[in-house]
Amino acid sequence: MARLELRDLSHSYKPNPVEPADWALKPMTMIWEDGGAYALLGPSGCGKTSLLNILSGLVIPSRGKVLFDDVDVTTLPTEQRNIAQVFQFPVIYDTMTVEQNLAFPLRNRGVEPAKIDARVKEVAAMLELTGDLKRKASGLTADMKQKISLGRGLVREDVRAVLFDEPLTVIDPHLKWQLRAELKRVHRQSKTTMVYVTHDQTEALTFADKVVVMYDGDVVQVGTPQQLFEEPAHTFVGHFIGSPGMNVLPASVAGGVAHIKGNEILLGRSYQPIDSAKRVEIGVRPEFLRLGSGTEGLPVTVKRVEDTGRQKIIRAELDGLPIAALAHEDETVPASGVRLIADPARVHVYADGQLVRA
Ligand code: ADP
Ligand code: MG
Repeated sequence: MARLELRDLSHSYKPNPVEPADWALKPMTMIWEDGGAYALLGPSGCGKTSLLNILSGLVIPSRGKVLFDDVDVTTLPTEQRNIAQVFQFPVIYDTMTVEQNLAFPLRNRGVEPAKIDARVKEVAAMLELTGDLKRKASGLTADMKQKISLGRGLVREDVRAVLFDEPLTVIDPHLKWQLRAELKRVHRQSKTTMVYVTHDQTEALTFADKVVVMYDGDVVQVGTPQQLFEEPAHTFVGHFIGSPGMNVLPASVAGGVAHIKGNEILLGRSYQPIDSAKRVEIGVRPEFLRLGSGTEGLPVTVKRVEDTGRQKIIRAELDGLPIAALAHEDETVPASGVRLIADPARVHVYADGQLVRA
């Protein structure tokens, strides 16, 4: 187990990066605590795999340092970093049996046969591969092969970290649920530092104690699932996490009040004047908007009401701006004259996408 650190790290795949767009990873400094369960979450192309490969040594960063337990490993080859990495697609030996595949990382390290045998059985049981240990890997389905890959990543107990790069991509949806829970359990038991890359918020939020949200080569927030929900540091986080995501509405802010399209919204805090060159928006999650009546709240036009079984999603427009709100299953949503009232304590202010503190 180890504490991983990125210090003033940035990376470009171009020989002479000039513009910001030339950088796959923008400057970042970050610590992954020893024994932590982290998810690296963001849309395709935002730099997740690049970051993971820099941790594992498959990619050497253009600038900055990688440290494991305060020791600089920036240019150390993968084999010498003592980590396990599981990729998106199966990496196994087709000519070997399931058992031989699982045993390989241990044999390679000269672990004694009795110990190998016991550990392989343990990992096979965890992944429900016990009945298949003697089978040749070549004849197996993609699902099964990926389970072997996972097993190979988890079989060594002395690694400093296990890195997963969207490991459930080729796994059948039903099995996905099961493996997700299994990985969480494995982490609790082993207490190994784990970094789990995914573009799927459900996967990230179930696996991780801490989620690192990436957007366009930048780390925009590191936080617990609750922090990401309650106080998104960037409009992207608010929008990307949640279902539906946070409403982000162009506004002007003066003291403790925001104006959106001529309507007033009360803020739970008072704000200093914001640089007029910046784009000002307010963010409020659908969970914190409730139906009002009379003249209180934002006058909206309801476009659609979606019934999810547990609650209703109201899809509306405020003078042309889309806005979503959640209502209780048994609430009636009138066809017209609908108003939405925001909980002032839950309304956030953003300038150029960044959260503004009151
Ligand atoms: P993600 O895993 O989040 O989808 P990647 O780390 O794979 O993102 O990619 C981040 C950016 O770097 C993308 O713009 C991608 O095209 C670019 N990139 C990734 N790998 C390479 C490479 N080997 N050579 C050049 N560009 C790359
Ligand atoms: Mg990737």
